[in-house]
Amino acid sequence: TIYLDNAATTCTDGRVASLIHEMLCEEYGNPSSLHNMGLRAERRVAAARRQVASLAGCREEEVYFTSGATEANNLALIGAARAKARRGRRIVTSQIEHASVLSALDSLAADGFDIVKIPPRSDGTVDPEAFAEAVDEGTVLASCMLVNNETGALCDVADIAGRCKAKNPQLLFHCDGVQALGKVPFSFKKLPVDLMSFSGHKLFAPKGIGALVVKKGVRLLPLLYGGKQQGGLRPGTENTAYIAGMGLACELARQEFSARLAQMERLHDHLLKKIAETPQLCSNSPLKCAPNIVNLSVPGIRSETMLHFLEGRGIYVSSASACTKGAKSHVLAAMGLPDRLVDSALRLSFSPDITEEDLDLTIAALCEGASSLARA
Ligand code: PMP
Repeated sequence: TIYLDNAATTCTDGRVASLIHEMLCEEYGNPSSLHNMGLRAERRVAAARRQVASLAGCREEEVYFTSGATEANNLALIGAARAKARRGRRIVTSQIEHASVLSALDSLAADGFDIVKIPPRSDGTVDPEAFAEAVDEGTVLASCMLVNNETGALCDVADIAGRCKAKNPQLLFHCDGVQALGKVPFSFKKLPVDLMSFSGHKLFAPKGIGALVVKKGVRLLPLLYGGKQQGGLRPGTENTAYIAGMGLACELARQEFSARLAQMERLHDHLLKKIAETPQLCSNSPLKCAPNIVNLSVPGIRSETMLHFLEGRGIYVSSASACTKGAKSHVLAAMGLPDRLVDSALRLSFSPDITEEDLDLTIAALCEGASSLARA
């Protein structure tokens, strides 16, 4: 198997899985219990919070664990909009955001918020000037991702958020950092952003765990009401096993950051070189790109047809993103790509255990597919 769909989800790291097993079977106390098993569980959650904070570059008390990035994005956007509703009604975002951002904002539109979605540049990145242009005094919230999940496009969030805050110091800025965590260097405290979302399963932890970083002093309204866990912002008994797992996954990503990055960059360069040499293929990813994602098209062959052809050879890739499941890519369409490229787009996303040979086999299979499927 050659698994090139790591931007959809990753295999859980064996070390993370072992820790989760231990948490489930031995350290299963409730962190709110007053006895020592509860205290030990509470300490595990606190340790995980430190590990996430250390990778994300924030303070440990700024980390709130959620059921994943979909929840983190919803909590950030809906929680911030509701907390700020009396100050204004305008929210600015980009057209290349993940569905969990765009749909959460659509729900706010139904509540009377005015959502402005800025188109990307033709290379898939967001133009800081165009984004900030849309911000006015009535803008309460803005959201832009750091790394796009379909193309790998790297957005200059420091510049975008900086310009937005210069125009309106009152607004809250949210950043979807899901595809950036452990993949590209950044630090929450160095970015002029207030809220940042992360997901465990893109980083070798299981699905169903994520985190929202909320800058100290920023007030959100919760989506759920319940007990006093996580300051009441995200009540409910903490998923201690997965929290510990996500913590360890972050710790490992931090320790292995340079080695993983170097391998991803090698793979990225190798693949782009191969694509350039192969007339049947063209890359849709910008130059300013995360090293773990390449979006390419095989003009003339529908994405899904090629995806299943590759699957038959044990190669797993994605058409657009897994979340849009078969729907046409709103990201590539927003970039203004012609239909023949959008309809034939595939996303290849690496993990550090992929090799150059794996990519050569994939290119060979793509070429084979391009000729045999075109004839069919
Ligand atoms: N944002 C981005 C950029 C993503 O790629 C994803 C996962 N596809 C999400 C948010 C949602 O994360 P989760 O699966 O943890 O809900």
